[in-house]
Amino acid sequence: MTNLNTEQGLEFSYQALPMRVKFGVGSLQELPAELDALGLKRVLVICSPEQQATGQMVADALGDRAAGILPEAVMHVPEEAALSASQKATELGADGCVTVGGGSAIGLGKAIALKHSLPIIAVPTTYAGSEMTPVWGLTSNGRKQTGKDPRVLPTSVVYDPSLTATLPVGMSVTSAINAIAHAVEALYAPDATPIISLMAEEGVKALTQALPLIVDDPSNLENRAQALYGSWLCGATLGATTMSLHHKLCHALGGTLNLPHAQTHTVVLPYALAFNQVAAPGAKAALSRALGGADDPALELWNLAERLGAPRSLSELGMEESDIQRIAEEVVGYSYGNPRAIDLESIQGLLSDAWRGSQPQANPGL
Ligand code: NAD
Repeated sequence: MTNLNTEQGLEFSYQALPMRVKFGVGSLQELPAELDALGLKRVLVICSPEQQATGQMVADALGDRAAGILPEAVMHVPEEAALSASQKATELGADGCVTVGGGSAIGLGKAIALKHSLPIIAVPTTYAGSEMTPVWGLTSNGRKQTGKDPRVLPTSVVYDPSLTATLPVGMSVTSAINAIAHAVEALYAPDATPIISLMAEEGVKALTQALPLIVDDPSNLENRAQALYGSWLCGATLGATTMSLHHKLCHALGGTLNLPHAQTHTVVLPYALAFNQVAAPGAKAALSRALGGADDPALELWNLAERLGAPRSLSELGMEESDIQRIAEEVVGYSYGNPRAIDLESIQGLLSDAWRGSQPQANPGL
């Protein structure tokens, strides 16, 4: 009998997303051909200030097809940055964007696409997965708003593992656990499908196997390729399903308290999963297989984070204990599907456990 990884059985609706993926060490060299295939002649290259040299290298490789470079991508896409990027794209007469970097660079490209419908070619250098989704985010007055729009889904994605070799070990670990969180929630999503669940399971397996090897030898491109492959799969699961409690918690913690994105996902995931896995046996079984037969996937991920030297408490990310109450109220106030019913008391307990870094449990705070 086939192993059905969804909670719903064999009844689903699946929308394939239109996108071309080029994957492999050295695939960056094919970027000019990718532009030609899309008929793009004047692209704006977008990156974060810290990655200006990489952005410049990409612009140089594109020659006069690069209309300019914008090294202004920062976390959570502030509205002013989105506005000034849109103006820059208009001034330069750009006909597309090439984003080089993680979720911040892709996020700025998406903000331009949302306004001007310009196609995006993404060249990801972290494992966050935004390149695989039609989800955009914009932050104004300290509040992050997100939405879905097919115009912001990149037209092409060029995954070159050699570009991730410079990603520091700490960031590699937290970025990869951010990707794993997408797959975890895709497995118990209200709109889970068997094919996406296969990708989720394989993605978690690829990433969790690659991570200890990357910690030991960050410049090994074979391990980097395996992690980027896992990140592609996990990103695709994020693009195809609706996220639940874990992502709502991280959205509130990141948006309201400005906690760092990937690190927050890393700390929260074992707690959200320990709470949800008791109500999602199909997801738990898939994760157990992906994690080499672990009986308790949440505990296994918590232990893995320790072995990888990742942060394990919200207090070490700078959250004050007094903020637990308002974040819990915010999360309970959102409307979203979740495999297990939530209430204020259990979310307060979950956040208290995560704040302290105590062992994750199905009935938090008890
Ligand atoms: P990031 O893009 O902010 O990058 C983090 C830091 O790492 C930056 O300083 C960057 O310059 C540096 N960096 C990136 N790649 C590097 C490399 N190869 N070598 C050296 N340094 C490198 O971080 P992120 O975690 O990729 O993205 C987080 C943002 O993406 C958040 O705003 C989050 O909300 C968003 N996001 C959106 C989606 C979506 O579907 N819309 C999905 C995931 C994340």
